[in-house]
Amino acid sequence: MPSISFAIFRSAGVRFGLPLILAVLMIFSLEPVLISFSPYRGLLLVLPYVLLSLVILLSQPFNQGKTALTALLMIVAFYIIQNYLQSPLSDNQTHIIYVLLATLLPLNLLQLHLLPERRLFSRFGTGYLIFLVCQLAWGALVVNHFAEQDLSGLWDSYLYALPDISPLPVLLILLYLSIGLACASAILKRNHGYDQAIFTSLLFAGITFSAFDQDLISSTAFSVAAVLLLLNLITCSHELAYVDPLTGIPGRRALETELKHLGRTYTLAMLDVDHFKTFNDTHGHKTGDDVLRLVAQFMQRVRGGAEVFRYGGEEFTVLFKGKESSECIDHLDQLRQDIANYEMAIRQYDDRPSSNQKGAKMRKKQSKQKTVTVTVSIGLADSFPDHNPAAVLKAADEALYKAKKSGRNKVSQ
Ligand code: GH3
Ligand code: MG
Ligand code: MG
Repeated sequence: MPSISFAIFRSAGVRFGLPLILAVLMIFSLEPVLISFSPYRGLLLVLPYVLLSLVILLSQPFNQGKTALTALLMIVAFYIIQNYLQSPLSDNQTHIIYVLLATLLPLNLLQLHLLPERRLFSRFGTGYLIFLVCQLAWGALVVNHFAEQDLSGLWDSYLYALPDISPLPVLLILLYLSIGLACASAILKRNHGYDQAIFTSLLFAGITFSAFDQDLISSTAFSVAAVLLLLNLITCSHELAYVDPLTGIPGRRALETELKHLGRTYTLAMLDVDHFKTFNDTHGHKTGDDVLRLVAQFMQRVRGGAEVFRYGGEEFTVLFKGKESSECIDHLDQLRQDIANYEMAIRQYDDRPSSNQKGAKMRKKQSKQKTVTVTVSIGLADSFPDHNPAAVLKAADEALYKAKKSGRNKVSQ
């Protein structure tokens, strides 16, 4: 069941929860984890480069530009840590680089969070690379400028002044927390893969900088982040292939895959929205899209082990594995009734067909929200006597035609 079981990794809860749980586990078992990884030091030192490069390469065909740029930022940060931050922080130059990196990395991630999604190999990607190179050059100038100066007075009197609460670490923690909260709420609100990529990177960069004195911390934390970024990319590409973007339920390709892996007993149902063309013509295409989303939501609540798919247009398919049609018909009739009884509020869109502009303005002024109801017709067929899924689907389609003929808002067999 590729499309169904994999769906869990795409849910907002897992996109937010998985990196968080791994981060918490890592924080609470940091020392034993790092000690157990120490025999693999050589591997761990190259693993983030390999995995993050893989993320960048795979991002391109799936148009995940933001995830690619997140991985690029992580590679650059890891390179700086490995090559410029291996001496103690008491060294002036190391300290400056640490503070710059620990501050600029989350700010860059925040900037990525705010930027629109674009392809990596595009004018946007080139512009971003130029920006990154300029930033690195500026960082190098700052480091060179301050490296020879005695900054101990600055560190002691401003940045680490108070005995109990040191302003710099507190500021950094606040920075990571606020950007983390922005990314987390974005995951839970719009559930895009790139939000998880940015959130994950922020989380594991934060762990790295807060436990910086631990051996292998950066290689371990960046490797875990890179694995999560790879997983994120795989789920995004799976989503592109199998999930219908309008309704969020599995699409035609997922259905076709499922139909190849059926046992002997199953029931298929075809569902079609009644008079949908007239609905679109009256209320506009966007309201039509809202109806499709609503129907999909109701379909996801069907009991009896139903798996639901958008077949195409305003047609949907329900699959009951291991069930005969007599066991499914009540669930489908309940679905038909639930949809028919639901009063959908019409949102104001500009694309509603109007004979004149005055009419459109009048509608905008209407404060009371209008509601509409839609009905669906459903045809179902089970796998007996013909076990061929294409033939069962055809029989379900013929049953649907019967439901339409007998007045719509019906379930037929
Ligand atoms: P019937 O009750 O016989 O099913 O009539 P109908 O109007 O629903 O059937 P018909 O096949 O004539 O029209 C289907 C319409 O569905 C035509 C098309 O504009 C609309 N449609 C198909 N896909 C989409 C979509 O993704 N969004 C919206 N808003 N409309 C769609
Ligand atoms: Mg139709
Ligand atoms: Mg229709």
